[in-house]
Amino acid sequence: MTIANDSALVLFSGGQDSATCLAWALERFARVETVGFDYGQRHVVELAMREKLRAAMAALKAAWKERLGEDHVVKLDALAAISETALTRDTAIEMAADGLPTTFVPGRNLIFFCFAGALAYRRGARHLVAGMCETDYSGYPDCRDDTVKAMQVALGLGLDKRFVIHTPLMWIDKAATFALAEAIGGKALLDLVIEDSHSCYLGDRAKRHDWGYGCGTCPACQLRAQGFAKFKRDETA
Ligand code: ZN
Repeated sequence: MTIANDSALVLFSGGQDSATCLAWALERFARVETVGFDYGQRHVVELAMREKLRAAMAALKAAWKERLGEDHVVKLDALAAISETALTRDTAIEMAADGLPTTFVPGRNLIFFCFAGALAYRRGARHLVAGMCETDYSGYPDCRDDTVKAMQVALGLGLDKRFVIHTPLMWIDKAATFALAEAIGGKALLDLVIEDSHSCYLGDRAKRHDWGYGCGTCPACQLRAQGFAKFKRDETA
């Protein structure tokens, strides 16, 4: 694997997707920093898992420990203030009349990329790595490949600096994301992702399933459970 003599900033929420992206980046870049956003999400436990995941990943490979740099947490209270969704308010997680789940925080990823770009600029990182995916996603328009590509252009122009946004999960499904973790870091990384990454919208870490912790019924849990079942089927096929 070629290591670019470059720095990367990983948008790292502590979920399965961003944990896999962090490992992907640690394989490729000489220095990797992470950024998380605190916007009053109810699954704030996801943020709490971040440090544990980072430490566990650094312990997996000596090279990863060497490359893993600082973590940044950006508080986005303003995003919480303008959002009225099931992720930040105590409302039911369901499909709304506009066809999007009530977990949709309008423009969330656009805002994340703006802050990540500003931080990357300050930190001298040319590469942004993020876990957006439009394969088996919930239909959030700011997860689309075209949106991400437009953000790359906008950041490059607005900051007058060349940025590359990498989205290694864009065209793979959740099953393939589990497989990717195993391909990058073997069973040790796969087990770590299952045990310590968090996806459940309700922040449930009491119920342990073969795919990790979660309520088992929210859309994020269902996606993860179905993906893991398919990953296991593919493995034995
Ligand atoms: Zn759940």
